[in-house]
Amino acid sequence: MVACSSYGVDSGSMDMLNPDVPDDVFADVRTQVSHFVRSRVVPRELEIMNTDSIPEDLRGQSAEMGLFGYAIPQEWGGLGLNLIQDVEIAMELGYTTLSLRSMFGTNNGIAGQVLVGFGTEEQKAKWLPGMAAGDIVASFALTEDGAGSNPAGLKTTAAVDGSGWVINGSKRYITNAPIANMFVVFAKLDPKPESGNGIAVFLVPADTAGIQVGVKDAKMGQQGSGTADVTFTDVRVEADALVGGNGDIGYKAAMTSLARGRVHIAALAVGQAQRALDESVSYAAASTQGGEPIGNFQLVQAMIADQQVGVMAGRAMVREAARAWVQEIDRRIAPSAVKLFCTEMVGRVADLAVQIHGGAGYMREVPVERIYRDVRLLRLYEGTSEIQRLIVGGGLIRAEQKRNS
Ligand SMILES: Cc1cc2nc3c(=O)[nH]c(=O)nc-3n(C[C@H](O)[C@H](O)[C@H](O)COP(=O)(O)OP(=O)(O)OC[C@H]3O[C@@H](n4cnc5c(N)ncnc54)[C@H](O)[C@@H]3O)c2cc1C
Repeated sequence: MVACSSYGVDSGSMDMLNPDVPDDVFADVRTQVSHFVRSRVVPRELEIMNTDSIPEDLRGQSAEMGLFGYAIPQEWGGLGLNLIQDVEIAMELGYTTLSLRSMFGTNNGIAGQVLVGFGTEEQKAKWLPGMAAGDIVASFALTEDGAGSNPAGLKTTAAVDGSGWVINGSKRYITNAPIANMFVVFAKLDPKPESGNGIAVFLVPADTAGIQVGVKDAKMGQQGSGTADVTFTDVRVEADALVGGNGDIGYKAAMTSLARGRVHIAALAVGQAQRALDESVSYAAASTQGGEPIGNFQLVQAMIADQQVGVMAGRAMVREAARAWVQEIDRRIAPSAVKLFCTEMVGRVADLAVQIHGGAGYMREVPVERIYRDVRLLRLYEGTSEIQRLIVGGGLIRAEQKRNS
């Protein structure tokens, strides 16, 4: 049993930003997602963790609710939520096992946004409706051995072959690879063009000859979502697989999609922090030592206070960063700053939650133990905390130097 959380906080009117989905319709969507998460998914968390999979009925309900395409524009069959709305949904989804969100996270986020932002009309028409419906799962395949934090180290190549391309290389830790129908694959053009960085991105059906998906990785947390290596051996695609028909937009597409995703990840972190806080408050109010509820001890109250402060600060920061993104005020510093703060914050909040639970917090099947492991990933993927610091600090210094030059 968890205590009531405080998502009723007014997020402000979005009318001035003219979202595709008006406020009243969005309020219904959010209520439905919140109800689904709390009444359908939270009771199944142990099943998801122990089976390391999302039950088919929950996948079906997610698809029916439009969750595979909430951030895909309506003209392509999605719900068309903007990022201000997306983060509100992410804070709701973050309240339960993060593996649920992972199932449709790549369609809406890192993979889907490459198509939405950089695909041709034909590419969008071919892929986005199926992705929005949940019939197609797309994976974002960028990371390789030696090319995680820095894509400049990419070794995967794409060479012209008649009317199409041949892709060779190996990717690792690719979310949803075991269930993917399509890979958004980043590769260096071979030979390197005279201008530009030569990083291109391709849309490759998962059943194309030469693709091998490795065994599912054994991860620390987020059981229920799968990652794997993906190897491309002489994988041939036609010219229309090149995103945007342009061999030089891969780097920009990756950076833009990742930056947007960072605001979303920060919102997930806030959702998990809220859940860890609620679990902590419930436990502390009821569990006793020497006949006294541990929540009556001021040192326990102090831990709860620190959790609450983190949640409130994170939520406010997420909303500000999402607004800055939608209004095109800041699409670089704010996404990194908010991901850095919120993912570090949830790490501390989860750690405090384990502490508040005492020995129980170390036991498998107690929610805060799972949260402690699950949120560790948030500081690693879509840019580590160190990379976020470099983007924020380096960005501010470069801007100042430019002003002074
Ligand atoms: C569960 C999971 C799911 C993932 N899903 C995907 C996915 O769907 N698609 C995908 O493409 N990738 C995915 N990744 C990969 C993920 O984005 C990378 O693991 C991450 O970006 C870090 O890269 P790396 O593992 O190569 O570590 P490295 O880049 O080698 O980093 C190791 C350490 O060095 C530090 N470091 C690196 N460069 C610098 C620098 N310049 N200055 C200071 N410190 C530095 C890092 O901060 C880190 O502490 C996933 C990873 C995991 C674990």
